[in-house]
Amino acid sequence: MSTNRKCSRPLCSKNAVATLTYVYGESTMVLGPLATFNEPHCYDLCDNHSQATTPPRGWELVKLETDPESLKPSTADLELLAQAVRDSAHSSQSVGELENSGRRGHLQVVRDL
Ligand SMILES: [Zn+2]
Repeated sequence: MSTNRKCSRPLCSKNAVATLTYVYGESTMVLGPLATFNEPHCYDLCDNHSQATTPPRGWELVKLETDPESLKPSTADLELLAQAVRDSAHSSQSVGELENSGRRGHLQVVRDL
């Protein structure tokens, strides 16, 4: 992200990476990706200050993901997916084993007769 916008906090000169928006009507602060243009009640924040942002008493802070990595499936999601694949592979194998043993049982019964 190329920008020369700076953090709006006093004494901070780091590049802004996020925009904090005050939604006064709903007592909500929204921390999201850097706004493309300046709006009222919007404050650009650097990485440090966006992490350190806490809502005033009675306010809610909503954080929108700004990390492009978060748009990809997370490692946890991939592990869940892998687990699901393993589970389904395992369960279909189990079904096959059950069918085989059932067939064997059936054949045994036939042979016993
Ligand atoms: Zn800052």
